[in-house]
Amino acid sequence: MLSPLEKLNKFLELEREQNYENRAVVGGLDKAVPYWEKEARAFQLPDDLISFVVEKLQEYPRLTPEQRRECVHQIYAQIESCNASTKPMVAETEPTPAQSRGVKLSERASIATDAPVETEQHILRTLQTPLHRVSGVGKKTAEALEKLGINTLQDLLYFFPRRYDDYSRLKPINKLKYGDEVTVLGVVQAIASRQVRDGKLQLIEAIITDGTGTLRLSWFNKLWYVNRFPKGTQVAVSGKLDMYLGKLIMKDPEIEEIDREQLHTSRIVPVYPLTADLNQKSLRRLMYRTIMQWAPKVSDFLPASVRSSLKLLELGVALSQAHFPDSQDVLDQARWRLAFDEIFLLQLGVLRQKHSWKSLQARVFDVPDTWLEQKLAQLPYELTNAQKRAVQEIRADLVSGKPMDRLLQGDVGSGKTIVAALAIGMVTYHGAQVAVMAPTSILAEQHYRNLSRVLTQSDESTLPILQPEQIRLLTSDVRGAEREKILNDLQHGSVKLLIGTHALIEDPVQFQDLQLVVIDEQHRFGVAQRAALRQKGNNPHLLVMTATPIPRSLALTIYGDLDLTVMDEMPPGRQPVETHVLHPLERERAYQLIRHEISKGHQAYIIYPMVEQNENGEHLSVVQEYTRLQQEIFPEFRIGMMHGKLKPEEKDEVMAGFRDGKYHILVSTSVIEVGVDVPNATVMLIEGANRFGLAQLHQFRGRVGRGSEKSYCLLIPESDDALENERLSVMVETNDGFVLAEKDLQQRGPGEFLGTRQAGFSELKMANLTDVHIIEKARQQAQLIFQQDPELSLPEHTLLAKKLGEFWRNGRGDIS
Ligand code: ADP
Ligand code: MG
Repeated sequence: MLSPLEKLNKFLELEREQNYENRAVVGGLDKAVPYWEKEARAFQLPDDLISFVVEKLQEYPRLTPEQRRECVHQIYAQIESCNASTKPMVAETEPTPAQSRGVKLSERASIATDAPVETEQHILRTLQTPLHRVSGVGKKTAEALEKLGINTLQDLLYFFPRRYDDYSRLKPINKLKYGDEVTVLGVVQAIASRQVRDGKLQLIEAIITDGTGTLRLSWFNKLWYVNRFPKGTQVAVSGKLDMYLGKLIMKDPEIEEIDREQLHTSRIVPVYPLTADLNQKSLRRLMYRTIMQWAPKVSDFLPASVRSSLKLLELGVALSQAHFPDSQDVLDQARWRLAFDEIFLLQLGVLRQKHSWKSLQARVFDVPDTWLEQKLAQLPYELTNAQKRAVQEIRADLVSGKPMDRLLQGDVGSGKTIVAALAIGMVTYHGAQVAVMAPTSILAEQHYRNLSRVLTQSDESTLPILQPEQIRLLTSDVRGAEREKILNDLQHGSVKLLIGTHALIEDPVQFQDLQLVVIDEQHRFGVAQRAALRQKGNNPHLLVMTATPIPRSLALTIYGDLDLTVMDEMPPGRQPVETHVLHPLERERAYQLIRHEISKGHQAYIIYPMVEQNENGEHLSVVQEYTRLQQEIFPEFRIGMMHGKLKPEEKDEVMAGFRDGKYHILVSTSVIEVGVDVPNATVMLIEGANRFGLAQLHQFRGRVGRGSEKSYCLLIPESDDALENERLSVMVETNDGFVLAEKDLQQRGPGEFLGTRQAGFSELKMANLTDVHIIEKARQQAQLIFQQDPELSLPEHTLLAKKLGEFWRNGRGDIS
């Protein structure tokens, strides 16, 4: 694409060649004025240059050829003088008029008609141009950008600033205070490096001044700064103010050379994420060119009805304002619009997915009331109301004639297993097969034992749901003849319930008639794995279970394609786990409690955030602490160690050892988190508790308090930082997983809840899944559109359909 100056040059050049016949632009040079002016303004060419050119071009048709020649020369002269005096941001990469004068004849055809023939199709295609073919992007820049995941022109438009420096709200150095996070402008007064720590590190120190005072800056190992920011360089530095020997200092600030235009062209300046091979200034210049040239051409895929009902900015405007905002207010609007787009597309995709799944047919599994009543009467307890509701919902799904697609969400210990068992019973009642998939062998084994117990029990009045030999466990440990037999029996239909790990989705596993798929701790599985298991049957019903409480706003967004059952009630008689936050110096008290509990025959977990210490030795780690605990603290006890670097078999062995009482204490990283049941464990000690999210801490806590004995959860943060302790104290106040999840979402964002369900989420650049307001609006609009036009086949939805396909292209194939 040509910049406005390049275009102008071409027009003038053509005119010269054609003896000033006013034919360079179809209909005359004056016809080019409106769009040229618009582009020139977008490009921020100097105002006086623009008005000069506009005036000259407008009078051009009325002039004699001789006058026209004069006119062309005047314009050239004006451009050149402008170039000499000011240097607009884009000028550096612009060819000067002299350079581009030699326009070839072969290029003529496109010249006169350049802007008007750019059809939507053309622009859409151009936006997919690979970066290295975009003008102004060098090979090295393209490579560096590709490392950041930016491969096309469109990616570049959506490569948003990490933050903005608002130069209108700068603080002078003499007004800075300890703790401020600021951007300061100044001139480098001195910069030097010296070796510290026996020559292991280079300390770079600089002093900048802005006339009101001086500020000291320091970095480690950034030796090249000394040359890059020599004395006299105008810089902007951003960072947090610290104190050293009674003086303010900025440690490891971001620093950048600035020039006058930067301050004048936009007071709010974008700061982009960088890699080593990119520099902020040239990247910003590239973005500026790209945005000014392309953002106005991007067609808006949002139907006008959506845009107007929510008063959303036009897409092109939103894009340019998100990069180079005119004001904070417009920036907010731009970000809102772009965030809305993302959630809206996500929602629309989710609705479409659900729609396509629901349009399939599934077998009906009806059971008589008496059957259900008998099964319930057989249980040693009465179901909670939440469990009853879940059973009813599943029962209704199974007779609906459409595949069930249900997420059963219930806190640890809420009793999901029995609900799943009843669902299994309803399907096997008709002789069909069921698969249950769990993320680890130990969990699969646990399900195998629990489900076998529930499903095979009988008394004088009722038959068991299944016979023991109809239930089989398949993990990677099951090999040889045993495996062969299981696979064979499965294929012939004599095995009705197969429980296992991802071994279930492997090729040789074939069902005779798979009709229900149950997946536990679903966030541990990728969408592809779930789909693979589902494909082993013919539109089987699907029940996924999770113990991770997910805030409602998020559940609707992420799992909008699943029907949601929340079990928000615990079976009666559970003792809440007594939770304490301990000061790091009170560790010995925790050890005493562990000793005391073990003396009563109980067991304990100790969790650490790290497997091994990092170089600085700052954080407690499993490997180091295991040795210390075993040698110095608990020499009299047997301690097991568990972490993610162990092989799966080793992990299972340690876990089984702990379950079977071989170890008194299990030290572990967070790998322990997922639903393992050791009712004899009564203490959960979590070191470095500040490094975990509340939802995750809650999962750890759920490992204890599973028996009838009183249990304890002890949280020790790395330091007694007040804020952390306040955050952790929420754990003391509530046992409600949803409350904690909600807090987590506010404090730490949605990362913890997404797990492997990434489809579409990698596309979220602007949206914050904690923003319930946007989520609600986007859902409403998506639903409206979907109701009107589920296939998006109306003409006003063509662009939207395209965009939707693009948005989901990475993550499609999920059919659950
Ligand atoms: P989770 O939801 O974590 O999978 P489980 O299904 O493992 O929970 O149930 C935890 C324990 O609670 C099990 O020992 C189970 O027998 C018991 N349980 C389930 N439902 C009830 C109930 N309604 N009343 C009493 N105990 C129950
Ligand atoms: Mg469970």
